[in-house]
Amino acid sequence: MININIATLFPDMCESVLTSSMIGRARRSGLVNIFTYNIRDFTDDKHNRVDDAPYGGGKGMLMQADPIYKCFEYVSKIYPEPMHVIYLSPKGKTLTQHKALELSKCKRPLFLICGHYEGIDQRVIDEIVDEEISIGDYVLTGGELPAMVLVDAVTRLVPGVLASSECYQEESHFSGLLEYPQYTRPEIWHGKKVPEVLISGHHANIEEWKKQQSIEVTKQKRPDLLDLVQNK
Ligand code: SAM
Repeated sequence: MININIATLFPDMCESVLTSSMIGRARRSGLVNIFTYNIRDFTDDKHNRVDDAPYGGGKGMLMQADPIYKCFEYVSKIYPEPMHVIYLSPKGKTLTQHKALELSKCKRPLFLICGHYEGIDQRVIDEIVDEEISIGDYVLTGGELPAMVLVDAVTRLVPGVLASSECYQEESHFSGLLEYPQYTRPEIWHGKKVPEVLISGHHANIEEWKKQQSIEVTKQKRPDLLDLVQNK
């Protein structure tokens, strides 16, 4: 069981993802608890203002520290243990399968902060954030899509969410390699035949073929990953 709390200015944007497909099923069956909080509900200002101009000038607006901090304080009181706080940020370390697995086993509730505009006041990052995570070297409008990416990657690794751990252990990136090619019916499609070994029924040969294909695919598409595996 994992508890994930998401602080955002756009909870509706998140809820549409969080109620569908595998995440929705995992929530309904109680394998993950996911809650969204609207940062705007934690303002003292009568217009529920959450942003202001950055000191020192510069284009755009910045999310203020206080509404984020008050949201964090409110959610902290729900749990007996301290939360693990993640700020989704293009300046963070890039999300990997290894990090998703680590977070899926995290005993502490997760608190994800979605920034917007030009980002958030550095002081709240310094005060409460344990780590910054990026989903790639590009800039998006807000942290909601990155938070959804992280929640999806983490949720499918929570025990019980997928039919068995084999479902993800053979997938790309788990062992450091990419997945072998896969085929389904019909046996011949557009003149292309399924590799003979896969219909041979010889399990040892099939396993060996999958292993060799994984290495081959990784060598062709991501030689950088192969170097990492070989240097482990
Ligand atoms: N001014 C910031 C910078 O140059 O680093 C970018 C701010 S971005 C427009 C607004 C928010 O989107 C960020 O605060 C962050 O929460 C989120 N965001 C944008 N790109 C992201 C990425 N690659 N990974 C994670 N979060 C991202």
